Amino acid sequence: MEIHKLIQPLVRETDSKIVLLVIDGAGDLPVDGKTPLEAARTPNLDKLAQESALGLMDPVARGITPGSGPGHLGLFGYDPLQYEVGRGVLAALGIGLQLGPDDVAARGNFATVNENGLVTDRRAGRIPTELNSELCEKLRQHLKRIEDVELLIEPVMDYRFVLILRGLGLGGAVADTDPQETGVGPKPAAPLVQDEATARTAQIADRFSAQAREILKNEENANAVLLRGFGKLPPIPKMQDIYKLQPAVIAGYPMYRGVARLVGMDIPPLDLGEERLEEKTRVLAEYWEEFDFFFLHVKNTDSAGEDGNFSKKVQLIEEFDAHLARILEQQPDVLAITADHSTPVPLKSHSWHPVPLLLKSHYIRPGEGERFTERECQTGSLGRFRSVELMPQLLAHALKLRKFGA
Ligand code: ZN
Repeated sequence: MEIHKLIQPLVRETDSKIVLLVIDGAGDLPVDGKTPLEAARTPNLDKLAQESALGLMDPVARGITPGSGPGHLGLFGYDPLQYEVGRGVLAALGIGLQLGPDDVAARGNFATVNENGLVTDRRAGRIPTELNSELCEKLRQHLKRIEDVELLIEPVMDYRFVLILRGLGLGGAVADTDPQETGVGPKPAAPLVQDEATARTAQIADRFSAQAREILKNEENANAVLLRGFGKLPPIPKMQDIYKLQPAVIAGYPMYRGVARLVGMDIPPLDLGEERLEEKTRVLAEYWEEFDFFFLHVKNTDSAGEDGNFSKKVQLIEEFDAHLARILEQQPDVLAITADHSTPVPLKSHSWHPVPLLLKSHYIRPGEGERFTERECQTGSLGRFRSVELMPQLLAHALKLRKFGA
């Protein structure tokens, strides 16, 4: 049964407040006997773990390695197997663009190709955002539309941009042109389903890529574009409607803001600059009265895992621990700390391993473990479940769910 159908009639509004802290990619594997969570010195998290219920969650399903998009949708109570959202849509929402139901969005990379048309750098030497903005402007001047399809080209960050195809009769099921490796040419934008709308969209995407190559041909690094994550905005119910919550997102990276906006979260203004926890906890305190659900995202732990940098991940977890006190000062009625997926240092990538979960409320039985670690969460009373079942538990602990049946 779809979980929203069960929850929606039971939900009631109350004054209680829920905080969901997501340490991106926090789950890990032992290196020399300890995971980063085990190796880190975390006095605040330890104390909290002793007062909390513990468990493990599978973000999508057992054995499935999730991207951050599905990982987060699950945490917000949206089954990632039911709601598939392209990265293009998430990136577009994340930078504040409005998408219509007919628009097709894709994520773009500026890239480098050699004289034979083979990709030598998928990220164009990681060009700075300023140059990205100039290049997007250049593309916009020459590429306003193809046939009757309007093109919107907006910079995101570093070498990444968003392309929106706006017109009627377009289809989102188009394959990536990014070959995901160097030494080969960009792929054609192949339709993934056989219908006229998709075939036409793929053609327009290819014409965009070819014309962009021509416009960018004299650029030193960014002389080509690669597209991926094509898709349309899926119809998706808002958290306000399903959970009767006023939700807010406190996250720096556009993709997380995008996935949060997709489910209806507000975005209080955040000084984006670097990923700074001081700023995020400040915003949490400033907007405490205005919302009753806060999703606060910690990004860099995932990057440390992807870089295979054990000590950096430990250091970031310790930094998070140091800021925890400020968050606890707000005295949320329900607090959950978890991850959207694991990013183990030995794998240098996302993985299928379940993520640790800590749940604190006025209504738990404490004394399950000494620390917030993968191993201690394994024996916690929450057991192991799919992360899509987290939201109902947060609502229950916030006393926001009526009883089911007479
Ligand atoms: Zn992630």
